[in-house]
Amino acid sequence: MNQYALSRRGLLKGMGSLGLAAVSSNVCATNGNASFAQEPELASSPVARAVSSFALSDVDLLDGPFLKARIRSQHYLLSLEPDRMLHTFRINAGLPPKADVYGGWESNPTWAEIHCHGHTLGHYLSGCSIMYGATQDVRFKERADYIVAELRDCQTASKTGLLTAFPEGNSLMDTVLSGRKYTGVPWYTVHKVYAGLRDASLYTSNPMALEVLTKYCDWAVTATALLTDEQFQKMLDEEHGGMNEVLADVYEMTGNVRYLTLAKRFCHQKILDPLAKSRDHLDGLHANTQIPKVIGFSRIYQQTGQRDYFAASAFFWKTVTNTRSFANGNHGDGEHFFPVVDFSEHVFSAKTSETCCDYNMLKLTRMLFELNPSAAYADFYERALYNDILASQDPDTGMVTYFQGNRPGYMKLYCSPIDSFWCCTGTGMENHAKYNDSIYFKGAHSVLVNLFIPSVLRLGPGVSLTQTTQFPDIATTKLQWKTNRPVETTVKLRHPHWCRTATVKINGKRFVESRQASSYIELKRVWHDDDVIEFDVPMELRTIPLPGNERIIAFVYGPIVLAGALGREGITPGGDLCVNERLYGTVMNTPFSPPTLTGDPATLIRLAKSTTQPLTFDIPTNRPSTTVRLVPYYKIAHERYVTYWNLDAEEDRLRV
Ligand SMILES: [Zn+2]
Repeated sequence: MNQYALSRRGLLKGMGSLGLAAVSSNVCATNGNASFAQEPELASSPVARAVSSFALSDVDLLDGPFLKARIRSQHYLLSLEPDRMLHTFRINAGLPPKADVYGGWESNPTWAEIHCHGHTLGHYLSGCSIMYGATQDVRFKERADYIVAELRDCQTASKTGLLTAFPEGNSLMDTVLSGRKYTGVPWYTVHKVYAGLRDASLYTSNPMALEVLTKYCDWAVTATALLTDEQFQKMLDEEHGGMNEVLADVYEMTGNVRYLTLAKRFCHQKILDPLAKSRDHLDGLHANTQIPKVIGFSRIYQQTGQRDYFAASAFFWKTVTNTRSFANGNHGDGEHFFPVVDFSEHVFSAKTSETCCDYNMLKLTRMLFELNPSAAYADFYERALYNDILASQDPDTGMVTYFQGNRPGYMKLYCSPIDSFWCCTGTGMENHAKYNDSIYFKGAHSVLVNLFIPSVLRLGPGVSLTQTTQFPDIATTKLQWKTNRPVETTVKLRHPHWCRTATVKINGKRFVESRQASSYIELKRVWHDDDVIEFDVPMELRTIPLPGNERIIAFVYGPIVLAGALGREGITPGGDLCVNERLYGTVMNTPFSPPTLTGDPATLIRLAKSTTQPLTFDIPTNRPSTTVRLVPYYKIAHERYVTYWNLDAEEDRLRV
């Protein structure tokens, strides 16, 4: 999400890059798809992206589930008080706090040893900065500017660039750097503040943000200077967020090569080396510790062209998405990767799919897509966006999930507004602010349409493309040109992997039919005002087997995971709104018997009956004369659900 501004250097810009010029009329349509075998050019210097994203301010969201989610997120961000997040930063700088500190991971003694104090401020600064970039709503810039000024004051008062909110004070980082024993994840936590300052610099046009950030980076350069490589790598055995990525970003923003050198030192060789050799050694590793490291590898590849960084990040993406992921695009049990052969043992855990993991997987996906614009990356992006990120937000309160468990009869549990501040609360502050960042990409003389989300794309003065759609409720989308002059460019429509035959009409006339799923349909043409592209992408009900076990299945319709909606049996009325882990016991310990299905997947699909509601089916269960209703998982809230079905399960064994 930080790449649009960063990627401007050396890339094609503006109208010219899209080939939007008045020329004679010609028309053609082809299917194109870069395969994974085609690696980007390996250079010894910065690697040009094949495509790049548009500025957040070039894309407006129109009414639909994503805009609604963003609005809920706006309300939440505006409800929080920056001074409460700044409380301990000021104390550690020798300044009096201006407000009481928040609860949860920010101050609750129960969580003191994980040392996540202050991570929320970093995410909040990112969230407000991205929200300003996406909406130009000055209320978010004012908040970002205020926090940046406060952090500058902290640096001035403490006479050091270091900024922390640890209860022990800034000296905890001395302990970390000395190699002495400590608990928790201090580097992970301070990384969030680095990233917040980077995002403030990129999206709010506040030069002070980069000043504070470079001071912070200078502190890191000096503080780590005396560490041997061995000591450095030992330090990296603990979770350290995306320090390599953010330092590489600051290198690009400033041109100061010391930050790139430090970014490389922050690359954990135990992870980089095997991945670069296409060895999946992820069993048992903490998932969300690894993904940010890999994002950093990809970033450093973009800047250096050094092959190992690319090989590691591309292989990691492939092995995680193809062999380790659930139908929703997330992975892991209890935050950890497990052996692929043990999928059947882990799938029904209540602690699958930590939401932070897909926050990071989507960042990695869009970064790799910019290097190699394969439809497979965009397919995954869509899958995780609907079934994990959009699904993570409470439609009533805007609060967000931590785990999205597959345990039959589980229910989404959301953070509380000011007493949780989990990692996923923090990434949730950013997730719903940036829905307009990956709908469209620009290539040389082309516009790529990756997602079917109502929106307006501004391509330049007097030229825009408006996408109107009720997708996924209706499997079609419409793109209309508004232009004050004829323009030539190639519109590349993603033909999704889940659609057998996609059809394109231009100005009401059938133009081309594609049977090549997971590819791009290329429409090269001179476009005129009011030209309309209609794109039909029929969906069908399918099942997806669990990796390695064809008798455990999930239902999907198009890209949308369908879950059995099971009601609220055993759940205290109203108790789950804006709650948190306190409800966990209620959900998990109340006796509850979810329905079961049996037979073969093809028969179940045949028996499924569509209802009057879109994307909704009734399917007979093993209980006599009883059906279960399958609905989009992303819409499920405040009720129990089933996402995976064991077709060989005995009902009693499923009692939870
Ligand atoms: Zn998390």
